[in-house]
Amino acid sequence: MEERARKLHQGAIVVDTHCDTLLRVLGRSPYRRQQPYKLGERNAEGHLDLPRMQEGGVDVQFFAAYIEPIYKPDRSLKRAMQLFDAFFTELEANSDRMLMATTVDDIMKAKEQGKVAAVLAIEGGEALEGDLGVLRMFHRLGVRSIGLTWNQRNDIADGVGDARSKGGLSEFGAAVVQEMNRLGILVDVSHLSDPGFWDVIEISTQPIIASHSNARAVCNHRRNLTDEQIKALAKNGGVMGMNFAAAFVKEDGKPTIDDLLDHIDHIVQLVGPEHVGLGSDFDGIGATPEGLTDVTKMPLITEGLCRRGYSDEHIRLILGGNYLRVFRQVWG
Ligand SMILES: [Zn+2]
Repeated sequence: MEERARKLHQGAIVVDTHCDTLLRVLGRSPYRRQQPYKLGERNAEGHLDLPRMQEGGVDVQFFAAYIEPIYKPDRSLKRAMQLFDAFFTELEANSDRMLMATTVDDIMKAKEQGKVAAVLAIEGGEALEGDLGVLRMFHRLGVRSIGLTWNQRNDIADGVGDARSKGGLSEFGAAVVQEMNRLGILVDVSHLSDPGFWDVIEISTQPIIASHSNARAVCNHRRNLTDEQIKALAKNGGVMGMNFAAAFVKEDGKPTIDDLLDHIDHIVQLVGPEHVGLGSDFDGIGATPEGLTDVTKMPLITEGLCRRGYSDEHIRLILGGNYLRVFRQVWG
C-alpha cells in the first residue's frame, strides 16, 4: 500500500453506517445456518469482527438490529430486544476494544483510546410496533439511527419491495420522523420506497442518511438513489453510505473496487464531496466487489480515492468526516 493512503486511512475517522453482524452474533437467524459468532475473535467466516475491524482501520461501526420478515409485525419488538442483547453482551465482553457511541464526543474518545465506536441502529421501523413511546425508549437505550422500513411495507411507510402501491409515509410515519428529529435519532431512508423518500425530505427538519445505498444512475437497482434523490439529500445536508453488495454496485453482479469508486465519483460530480460516505452492508450481503472480501480490505478504498486524485481533505470527508458533521447536528 502506498504510504500516503496508509497514513490517511490510519489518521482519518473511518465510519461504516451499516452491517448485519448482530445476526451472526446471535447465530439464530432462520435464514443463516451458522455457528454463533464472537465479535472479539477473528472469525474464518463473515466479514467483520473486532480484530479485523482494527486491522481494516474502521473507527465507527453502526450495528443494525435487522428485523427479519418472519418476526413482522407482532414479534418485531422482542426481536429487536434479542438483537440489542447480543449488542450489549458483546460490548461488555469487549470493553477493552469497543465502546458504545451515542455522541460525537464518544467517537472522539474511542479514537483516542484506540477502540471501535459502536453505534446501535435499527433496520425496520416495525420494531416500534406502532408506538412513539417505544421510540423514546429506543433513544434512552442508545439507539441513534433507524431505517424506517426494510423492503416491505410497515405502519410507518412502504418499502422498495412494495413500490407497486406508490405509497410513502403514513400519518404515523410522519409523526415518527418528527419525533426522531426531536429526540436526535438519524432518519435512515435506505430500503424506503421512492415516494417515502420524498415524504421524508419534506417532513424532516434534520439532515437524513441513506446508510447503505448507491447511485441508481451508475447501477440501476431499486435500492440505489436516483440523481434527483441524491440532489435532495445533499440539499437537506445528508449523507449516503456506499453499499458493497455486488448487485448494487454493478448490474452484472461482478464489480471491482473501481466500480464502487465510480459511484463515489458520480455523487461527488453531482453534489460535491460532502454527501458521500461508506455503508458496507457487511454480513448482510453475499458477493462483494472483487478483492473487497472483508473489513480488513477497507484501506483499498482509500488507496483507490488517492489514485483517482482526491485531496486528503476530501478523502477524510468521504471516509467519515461527512458523517461526523451529520451526527454532530442530529445527535447534539
Ligand atoms: Zn439493508
